[in-house]
Amino acid sequence: MNHNIFDLTGKVAVVTGANTGIGQGICVALAEAGAEIVGVGRSDMTDTANQVTAVGAKFYPVKADLLSLDCLDKIISGALSAAGRIDILVNNAGIIRRADLADYTVSDWDDVMNTNIRTLFFLSQEAAKYFLENNIHGKIINIASMLSYQGGIRVPAYTASKSAVMGVTKAMANELAPHNINVNGIAPGYIETNNTAALRADPKRSAEILARIPAGRWGKPSDIGGAAVFLASAASDYVNGTTIAVDGGWLAR
Ligand code: NAP
Repeated sequence: MNHNIFDLTGKVAVVTGANTGIGQGICVALAEAGAEIVGVGRSDMTDTANQVTAVGAKFYPVKADLLSLDCLDKIISGALSAAGRIDILVNNAGIIRRADLADYTVSDWDDVMNTNIRTLFFLSQEAAKYFLENNIHGKIINIASMLSYQGGIRVPAYTASKSAVMGVTKAMANELAPHNINVNGIAPGYIETNNTAALRADPKRSAEILARIPAGRWGKPSDIGGAAVFLASAASDYVNGTTIAVDGGWLAR
């Protein structure tokens, strides 16, 4: 039998924001590649559990609110007691708050930054310590955005957080690469999820966005799965600190 460099059999992937959207798409893709999934989130994950078990993989839910750092120990110990090990961490959970610059509130700024970058960094730190202590060739995958590259409109905290995600991905990769731990990112384009519901409900913005996507369509959560499997697998063992855009050509335009 040929060795499949994308095979994730025997690996355990912890995916935050697993109940819906891109996180759900990533859970299913990693499960199809053979991984067991620890889904982390604050909402019911039955839908994702059903999709993961339907492809023959195991799914373990860990309830946690990622707004504050109180969740860190719960996530790592919850994953280890459920699945026995961790090989892959996907930092997917994220929020967006829209307002004009003059109206942008401190609480919106703090919530977005705390969820999208503060928790992402410190959860990665916990995973990295576990990988180092247990000599595990771990994989950390951070979900960035087109607003890691661009300014966006009416979402300054989101832009700040996602620009930081791309930067911290490089910073962590530099330090962890010598230990055979890969840290990389995925920058989704415009994907049909709750995150973009307000944009898609605005006929003008929706049409403007669609007209700028060379692929001629919005992305689906399943479109992100291939890059996630690549970055979670041995196929990416010499890929460090990069962020892969999965955007239908948005950035090439
Ligand atoms: P989504 O459907 O809104 O999913 C966001 C996920 O994060 C949900 O599972 C959500 O849980 C979870 N989450 C948010 N705050 C949380 C908290 N405090 N504790 C636990 N879980 C929390 O949107 P999505 O598009 O799939 O977003 C996934 C990631 O992709 C985000 O980082 C987003 O910024 C990024 N992204 C999305 C797009 C796009 O076009 N959709 C483009 C670029 C990047 P609940 O359901 O409980 O809120």
